[in-house]
Amino acid sequence: MFVDQIKIEVTGGRGGNGMCSYRREKYVEFGGPWGGNGGKGGDIVFLGDSGMTTLYPFRFMRHIKAKSGGDGMSKGKTGRSSDDTIIKVPLGTIVKYENGDLIGEIKTPGETLIVARGGKGGRGNISLSTHKNPTPDYAEKGDPGDHMIIELELKVLADVGFIGFPSVGKSSLVASLSNAKTKIADYPFTTLSPQLGMVLAGEETYAIADLPGLIEEAHLGAGLGIQFLKHLARCRVFVHVIDGTDETPLEKYEKIRFELSQYDPKLLEREEVIVINKSDMIDEKTKKALKMTFKKDVLFTSAITQDALLTLKFLLLDKLHQIPVTEEVQTKKVYTLEPLEEDVVITKVNDQHFKVTGKALYELYMRTDMSNDEAIKRLTRQMRALGVDELLKKNGATDGATVELFDFVFEYVER
Ligand code: GDP
Ligand code: MG
Repeated sequence: MFVDQIKIEVTGGRGGNGMCSYRREKYVEFGGPWGGNGGKGGDIVFLGDSGMTTLYPFRFMRHIKAKSGGDGMSKGKTGRSSDDTIIKVPLGTIVKYENGDLIGEIKTPGETLIVARGGKGGRGNISLSTHKNPTPDYAEKGDPGDHMIIELELKVLADVGFIGFPSVGKSSLVASLSNAKTKIADYPFTTLSPQLGMVLAGEETYAIADLPGLIEEAHLGAGLGIQFLKHLARCRVFVHVIDGTDETPLEKYEKIRFELSQYDPKLLEREEVIVINKSDMIDEKTKKALKMTFKKDVLFTSAITQDALLTLKFLLLDKLHQIPVTEEVQTKKVYTLEPLEEDVVITKVNDQHFKVTGKALYELYMRTDMSNDEAIKRLTRQMRALGVDELLKKNGATDGATVELFDFVFEYVER
């Protein structure tokens, strides 16, 4: 299978922990809070790079983690905010959540998309001091960064797609026409990947792709054909390649068109050039007969003798000039995290055992240094404010019931 779709795990940098420290003054045991805030964790940012044409490098980057923010320091110093982790992606990369919803698409060079945000830094005890509690004995931990599985999908942004039966000369034509061959050799199954090339026509360039798979992969089984068809759907022009030595060229042509229509009937309306290749192998009489058979404009080419390749090059450029680039996928640049669940969720395991989870609770919990009694006390107050005690009571919790808060377990005390 070729790589044009890959799932990876991304984790934004954790925010730095807030610091809990005290200013020392003569004759005063604790001279007031002195601990600074933690720094922000780094984001993971995708950056459009026109030099890349495949998602292949992601095979070796299945989990991308951004750097954590620095911890807060004493003397009120804020921890260092972490640099973002910048990852280059090819143009045309579509990023989705695991459920298929769109996060965004990278279309132009230099365009960026945040795919996982770093966590906020925790507050140090200076920031946490209040009128009632001027010298808190705790600090907040930094927030974790976003963590999720995302799916990358690359539709090859080829202007021209070469289609046709196997061995008609698609790859040979693409190779002959294009100057810059992409690093396709890295693919484990080279013959089944779309081969991209840039064509230099005068001062202009366009991308062409040899897209196997309409017929070729049929015997290889599920889904592969569809993969190629997705690439194909984005090409503005098709070059339909026929082998000039074929006994049944029109049937082959119709068969390919049928495959196209199965995917999307609109593909049949796509601008196409019919190329009859291997012209070096056929005589004038055969050419005439072929012209009669197709009843359409056909161009005789040879990848071996380079016959008519220049004509084809400029014919394609001409056609591309006439067809505007269509925008299929809308861009949504800012990534927002959907609320995963309610703020507080109580699950009753049995009469004496409850689990409390929820988005707001999770945030508070992750900010709390559970090794610090004062911090835990603060968390209990915050939980009460969120109505956790009341909800537990409503659910039938009685004195001594076990309450699980993520990986922390405590005893329910009736008040
Ligand atoms: P694809 O399967 O359509 O990509 O076809 P290939 O480009 O791999 O070509 C299949 C075979 O046909 C190879 O052995 C090529 O050398 C040969 N071939 C391709 N183009 C021509 C041509 O114009 N003339 C001749 N004589 N052979 C060709
Ligand atoms: Mg080929």
